Amino acid sequence: MTDSIAHRIHQLRATLPETVRLIAVSKTFPAEAIRQAYGAGIRDFGESKVQEAIDKQTQLSDLPDITWHLIGHLQSNKALKALQHFQWIHSVDSLKLAQRLDRLAQESNCTPNACLQVKLLPDPNKFGWSISQLQTDLFDLNQCQSLKIKGLMTILPQGLTASESLEVFHQTKKLATDINQQSWQNLAIQELSMGMSEDFSLAISAGATMIRLGRTIFGARVTQLR
Ligand SMILES: *Cc1c(COP(=O)(O)O)cnc(C)c1O
Repeated sequence: MTDSIAHRIHQLRATLPETVRLIAVSKTFPAEAIRQAYGAGIRDFGESKVQEAIDKQTQLSDLPDITWHLIGHLQSNKALKALQHFQWIHSVDSLKLAQRLDRLAQESNCTPNACLQVKLLPDPNKFGWSISQLQTDLFDLNQCQSLKIKGLMTILPQGLTASESLEVFHQTKKLATDINQQSWQNLAIQELSMGMSEDFSLAISAGATMIRLGRTIFGARVTQLR
């Protein structure tokens, strides 16, 4: 049982292209599970909540080379803490949040990496930009200098068929290409953070560079938290 996390990781790795960055989503799982995944070679971990991540980071302070990814909605009052505890923020979902993170990053002399969370299909349960709103905000996003905007992140609504999912992933890739063709000075969208346990193979086939897997690595989550 104790090495089942390692076993799943080794099996998974064998199927993944080497260029895809595997982020182990450890939300709701204990620090001990992270330690096991670390032992199997994982260095990228994703958490949804700032405080939950900080608690685990404290317990794992002997593991110095972890990259922490924030993948959950960030309330603006926790923006500074997020900058202090995560190297990547995938869930930048509004211009206001981006500008706040940029200002705080400048004041604290750090250059956090960010993805813009996009919502290509209407989904009342999810945050993120629509395509048209994002196009409107690109000019202002391009003013961010300390916040390094490097990618797009998307979460699919539940209940899509495989071909519908694939379509959304392709649209996300196309949106990235469109933005890059506009040659903004500070917006080079190289990363596509898309694909979770259910749909990561489709996401990879559409060009995902970062996949975020929880259950595939850690097993079923007791609390259904997203
Ligand atoms: C929980 C979560 C994941 C991982 O989900 P699994 O189904 O466990 O792979 C990925 N991305 C986000 C944004 C999440 O909240």
